[in-house]
Amino acid sequence: MELIDGKSIAEGIKKEIAAKVAAIIDAGGEPPHLAAVLVGDDAASQTYIASKERACKAVGFTSSVYRYEPDITEKKLLEVVDFLNNDPDVNGFIVQLPLPKHIDADKILQRIKPEKDVDGFHPVNVGRLALGLPSYLPATPAGIMLLFEKYGIETEGKHCVVLGRSNIVGTPISLLMSRKAKPGNSTVTLCHSKTVNLPEITRQADILIAAIGQPGFVKADMVKTGAVVIDVGIHRISDDSEKGYYICGDVDFEQVAPKCSFITPVPGGVGLMTIVSLLLNTFKAYNAEIYPKQ
Ligand code: NAP
Repeated sequence: MELIDGKSIAEGIKKEIAAKVAAIIDAGGEPPHLAAVLVGDDAASQTYIASKERACKAVGFTSSVYRYEPDITEKKLLEVVDFLNNDPDVNGFIVQLPLPKHIDADKILQRIKPEKDVDGFHPVNVGRLALGLPSYLPATPAGIMLLFEKYGIETEGKHCVVLGRSNIVGTPISLLMSRKAKPGNSTVTLCHSKTVNLPEITRQADILIAAIGQPGFVKADMVKTGAVVIDVGIHRISDDSEKGYYICGDVDFEQVAPKCSFITPVPGGVGLMTIVSLLLNTFKAYNAEIYPKQ
């Protein structure tokens, strides 16, 4: 069994980005600028935004965070999106989810200009992804594809079973895995809460991607010997340790790891790749790679 070291891959990519940014600055240019909109005080969102800020600083990007109280109106938030859409100094921005219940998240995400939508959640970017056209890929699925690439894991002709059909992970990764590309060219089965005989399906997986939000859900008897297992889940579980919690994924690592050819640990696997993918998307926005300037 080989552990997929997301941490070292992420650090390597960040170094490459940092070198490119340094060259831009040396040549008298402005660094790429990634902005984020954060509404309310959701702990997981605060943590994600703080890591995004740290990652931007590490590679030399400009980073800004627009913070709002949870009672901000939808109208005001749409104005914030419009402002960032039109700010020439901002190359790309994200609106951190979840948003408070009184705000229609789809309406907000659809207001972001596709060329600044570095989270890749706008219908235009999702549509382009589905059609195999260049687009900003959602950060977590893009990070997983980078791990396959960096580890030289063959995906062509493999049966890939994806657990979870969310718009941010399950659905886009299933599209990417089935795309006519390398990595890609897998035969994909997408499972969800209405799937029957789930263990029977997961046992057929050469590549199993778990993104269901259920701690330790995937057990050894659900995995084929020699499978590649990608664990997207992140859970903070309270315990008696000094920290008061431990972090785990959707896979029961202790049970499953010995059966795998490759497996991502949690933490230290997919999570760190997510922010790196966001940085890469921001760089693409800076270079107008996906949507060339007219
Ligand atoms: P989500 O929106 O909560 O969706 C969960 C999906 O799993 C749904 O499609 C649901 O089916 C399915 N599901 C739930 N219970 C199931 C079960 N018992 N059997 C089969 N399918 C089941 O998920 P998400 O936002 O993609 O997040 C999934 C996990 O990944 C979470 O732990 C989250 O924290 C983590 N995450 C990590 C990163 C990262 O950077 N590493 C990024 C994003 C998310 P239905 O559609 O039928 O309800």
